Amino acid sequence: MIALTLLSLEAVASRIENTIRQGDTLSRFGGDEFVLIMPQLKLNIDAAAFAENIVKILQEPFCLGQHEVSITASIGVSIYPDHGKDAETLINHADLAMYETKSLGKNNVAFFSNSLDKKHKCKISLESEMRKALERNEFMIEYQPQVTLGDRSIRGLEALVRWQHPTRGRLTPSDFISEAEENEIIIPLGNWVIDQVLRDVRNWRKLGIDPPVVAINVSALQLRQTDFAAFFVKLLKRYDIPGHCIELELTENVIMQDVNEKIRCLKSLADAGIKIAIDDFGTGYSSLVNLQRLPVDTLKMDQSFVDGISASPSEDSMVSIIIAMARGLGLSLIAEGIEQLHQAQYLEQAGCFQGQGYLFSTPLNFSSTVRYLEQGSYGPVQ
Ligand code: C2E
Ligand code: CA
Ligand code: CA
Repeated sequence: MIALTLLSLEAVASRIENTIRQGDTLSRFGGDEFVLIMPQLKLNIDAAAFAENIVKILQEPFCLGQHEVSITASIGVSIYPDHGKDAETLINHADLAMYETKSLGKNNVAFFSNSLDKKHKCKISLESEMRKALERNEFMIEYQPQVTLGDRSIRGLEALVRWQHPTRGRLTPSDFISEAEENEIIIPLGNWVIDQVLRDVRNWRKLGIDPPVVAINVSALQLRQTDFAAFFVKLLKRYDIPGHCIELELTENVIMQDVNEKIRCLKSLADAGIKIAIDDFGTGYSSLVNLQRLPVDTLKMDQSFVDGISASPSEDSMVSIIIAMARGLGLSLIAEGIEQLHQAQYLEQAGCFQGQGYLFSTPLNFSSTVRYLEQGSYGPVQ
């Protein structure tokens, strides 16, 4: 199975057609996907060589009118009878292999394998487990304090989801969030997170604790829902929470995709007082022009830059650039993943005045967060 990005399916089809032999069948499977059936191939190695050749010939640019266009191809291969005894299974398995090559970087070839099948089944079972976990209320939220570096006073809290799995124990997002983000399950899970966080904020307010800003991570699919801003604002009203108590964390890549649409959505959120932060800043791609057009309040300097601050006090140019950017754009800046005192000291003297990390506190459950808020911080709660 061959997936193509970009234009001119006809030109692509005819280029592939020139390489096939009599008895082979080339057909378009839909969208930008083609199926090539080669009944005469005897050896797997021949299939590999053939597929690699197709990738190569498709790398040559195409002339479309006055333009030269380059495309990429990802090919998944399945072989009868090892990988399936009927057409449907063979096509499904080639499809799986094709998605594997796509995820590993394009312009490549992959064969179906049992481990791929296992991985796919694991993904499906993780998805259905997550759906059940939502029904059984197995997810929970922890809050990691964000502090002012100078006096360790609380600047905010970041809400981080955890899963109390019935057999695997306590899972952190690295065990499930990327799978959730790859399919629709992130929407009900993300909505659950939002609802739970807003309930917690309401409960803190009822306890007389005025919470600082609480940050919620929002992923691409959630934000792409047409009514996301309206949904969020409605929930704020239901829980009687002022917009300025909430900050939404979005990564650069999420925010920079379909910028005009994002500007509309984020403006509606900003109009309700909600703050917007760019998470993992410095690891994705941000256009400065677009950054200025978006109603962004905060940049979160990615942990990798903080990790790079060595104990010896030489200037760290990346850290300085990010600090200068935040200052130039008039944005608030928080450094993530501060573990060492010298990192906090370096950041503060370089002009980054807010931070988050194990040096100050690990993520805390609801009651530890209450204690943290009550004591006004000054160090981790044990
Ligand atoms: P993130 O938004 O960059 O969150 C920060 C991660 O760094 C958290 O990991 C946090 O526990 C960890 N961390 C904080 N301080 C330190 C430190 O000093 N050192 C080190 N080594 N790590 C530190 P966590 O909780 O495992 O979350 C991982 C990622 O999962 C988050 O990265 C975020 O992208 C995602 N995530 C978490 N909760 C949610 C959620 O509710 N929705 C969505 N969409 N994504 C979430
Ligand atoms: Ca985050
Ligand atoms: Ca981050």
